[in-house]
Amino acid sequence: MRTTRTIAETRAALADERARGRSVGLVPTMGAFHEGHLSLMRAARAENDVVVVSLFVNPTQFGEAADLARYPRDEARDGALAATEGVDLLFAPAPAEMYPDGFGSWVDVEGPTDGLEGAHRPGHFRGVATVCTKLFSIVRPDRAYFGLKDAQQVAVIEQVVRDLDLGLEVRPIETVRDADGLALSSRNVFLSPAERRVALALPRALAAGRDAHAAGRDPAEAALAVLAREPGLTVDYVEAAGLGRRLHLLGAIRVGATRLIDNLVLAEQPRSATA
Ligand code: AMP
Repeated sequence: MRTTRTIAETRAALADERARGRSVGLVPTMGAFHEGHLSLMRAARAENDVVVVSLFVNPTQFGEAADLARYPRDEARDGALAATEGVDLLFAPAPAEMYPDGFGSWVDVEGPTDGLEGAHRPGHFRGVATVCTKLFSIVRPDRAYFGLKDAQQVAVIEQVVRDLDLGLEVRPIETVRDADGLALSSRNVFLSPAERRVALALPRALAAGRDAHAAGRDPAEAALAVLAREPGLTVDYVEAAGLGRRLHLLGAIRVGATRLIDNLVLAEQPRSATA
């Protein structure tokens, strides 16, 4: 596996592959790899000749400086894991490579950014859409892999790709969970054992919501009832929403200083945009 730091060397490495007619799959990440990231890499490995993973803790998608500063980073470990998964190229640029002095162009997406994370994290999706558009421009992948754990992000990226005719396929990948049901997240390392027990209320609540939906009842109401029984957390939101072609039940909670999001798919093709 080769590691590149600059846009120029990344483009040069891939131009050669493309000239030979080889397909390219891209997995955008912020590092601190867990099985969720690795499942994206495996999907990309299975479907493409060349697999590129980007490792970039994107400052423009963080609201609070403290959240950015404490985000877990371990490039040596990440590089070893990516190599084990058969990744060909790890693109790990410094912030100044992606956002040089004078940077001033942003990708602002309307529609799927409304509500949910878009409402609770102002500017977040502008940062995500901008960095992903840059990564697509640098790598020019045939396919890009995103986790459904961040379901609204998938919908935002699908919209950008469609609106700006970026000519790549967005491949959504199922959420990977720990044995206890908690969705894997780089932020889970911040949870104490006691906080982790509290956090398990989120997947439990979403599962209760899914059961309620299947029985013809309001999924958000059922999920909120479960969360209300757990005093150690605060709820940012629980909502059923149509994202792309899927109807999801989505939730965001705070446990201590850690914010967690999760969701379940309720149906593949919602009749309306919002339920
Ligand atoms: P991040 O490094 O947190 O920006 O995540 C990089 C990619 O991994 C995103 O597309 C995430 O949606 C995806 N991802 C994060 N957690 C999981 C998970 N538990 N299962 C599947 N994909 C995930």
